[in-house]
Amino acid sequence: MSEHPTIGDTLEQTVARYPDRDAIVYPRKDQRWTYAAFDERVNRLANALREAGIEKGDRVATVLRNGSEMALTVYACAKIGAVFTPLNFRLPAGEIEYIVDDAGAKLVLFESATEEAVAGARPALETVDDYLSVDDDVPEYAGGFYDLLESGSSERPDVTVTEDDVYAFIYTSGTTGRPKGVVHEHRSMVEHSLLCIAELNLTRDDVGLSVMPLYHCAELHCSLFPRIHRGATTVVHHEFEPETALEAIETHGVTTLFAAPTAWNGLSLTAAEADVDVSSLRIGLYGAAPMPEQVLDNCMEHLCDDYVQAYGMTEIGPAGVFQSPEDQRSKQGCAGLPALNHELRVVDPGADPDREVDDGEVGEVLIASPCAMREYWNRPEATARSLREADSATWYYTGDLGYLDDDGYLYVVDRKDDMIVSGGENVYPAEVEDVLFAHDGVEEAAVVGEPDDEWGERVVAYVVADAVPATELDAFVRESDRLADFKRPRTYYFVDELPKNPSGKVQKFKLREDEADLEPEADPVA
Ligand code: ATP
Ligand code: MG
Repeated sequence: MSEHPTIGDTLEQTVARYPDRDAIVYPRKDQRWTYAAFDERVNRLANALREAGIEKGDRVATVLRNGSEMALTVYACAKIGAVFTPLNFRLPAGEIEYIVDDAGAKLVLFESATEEAVAGARPALETVDDYLSVDDDVPEYAGGFYDLLESGSSERPDVTVTEDDVYAFIYTSGTTGRPKGVVHEHRSMVEHSLLCIAELNLTRDDVGLSVMPLYHCAELHCSLFPRIHRGATTVVHHEFEPETALEAIETHGVTTLFAAPTAWNGLSLTAAEADVDVSSLRIGLYGAAPMPEQVLDNCMEHLCDDYVQAYGMTEIGPAGVFQSPEDQRSKQGCAGLPALNHELRVVDPGADPDREVDDGEVGEVLIASPCAMREYWNRPEATARSLREADSATWYYTGDLGYLDDDGYLYVVDRKDDMIVSGGENVYPAEVEDVLFAHDGVEEAAVVGEPDDEWGERVVAYVVADAVPATELDAFVRESDRLADFKRPRTYYFVDELPKNPSGKVQKFKLREDEADLEPEADPVA
């Protein structure tokens, strides 16, 4: 072990402590591996990857849905210093090609469901042998992954990996532009794992269910890593399906899981109707947005009492702020307090990004985090904009707008790029969208700024709405009495759908930049 443990070391520590406890359970393939058995397979894969020509620093990409293979691959890469590069399996072929190329991946692991999507990326690589399938039903590469794994020695690989080595490139979700490769080191992700162990009070007796995608750092770093580090068990599901997840809670005695608020909503509504025993569940983790009060009520009634919210982003691991169980009710809508060893600042979002604003005032959220990325891959300018030194700390400029209340709790308001400045006044689109969402006929809404000769920018709304005229929406907004007149949308664009990334986040930059593609029906109001 190096002075400070690497990701591979966290697994080996657990193997030494609890070799016979269950590490990974993957019902889809009837796999149940103890820590000793899991580690043996990790070593085999790691050695086989070396034999196949993967060296320290080489990028190994995955385009895989959840499965034990994701867990094997990330630890195998960690042990040989290869750079784990998980891609969102839902990305269209062109995006996969872009990321494989941007990362300079030497190997791409895929499965039958993602074979077509990776096809385009092939010419960018040296040979077809660079592709391995984890399923048996891609005839061309039948069983490639498991054949490879079996071929490797079970000895610990003879490669020196240290805490400062790069562990992974994790690509951001692509909400505000093209996905960026976030370069994470071993040390910071081991720190991040400790944070999550502490916030969730994880013990070796915990059983976690991985239903959210493991290519995203939230599931990978907030769930899988801390559980392996602590010696708990992970049950992996190929995809999220509320009934199956609830059955698994009963079957495996699941004590904890991470899900987005919308998924928790689905789980709680299904649990209300289903005849399943979920009493083993002790704590739920969620992120991406605060939990709406009604969803929290349902979850508490039908699932378990305690929930933890994480706020953050790929660049810091992702979790840097936690809202603990005792604050769920008393601080509704907030993101929480800085995580252990983290610090928050809120600064002027405009001309003076070094000036801290007063409590209660909205500004850009900065985080000093021991888990922050080293850099964005191949993007020195973006790195310099995002990571800045001040007062002996490195501050990550999140690009999110928020404020701190009198108790130091963070409230996230919107994204900085999305803020509209109209006649010198700031408009936060999320606030306008909330009002529009309250109209029964509005399915989706996205509010952006459009250039305006008189006001600099004017507020406009893109809506997916069934036969609701703009005049009615305008009257609804006026009557709601929740918005000052300068925040009122001046034009409604009716569209069939909004541009979204595969995680379902609306890509407003596309609305601002290529409106024409949507052929919206514009309806200005006075
Ligand atoms: P890109 O950086 O490529 O535009 P992205 O920012 O959506 O994509 P992620 O790192 O997956 O990529 O998402 C982080 C963002 O998600 C944060 O910057 C924030 O806007 C939002 N977010 C995460 N957690 C929360 C939360 N608990 N409450 C509110 N917003 C959150
Ligand atoms: Mg981002």
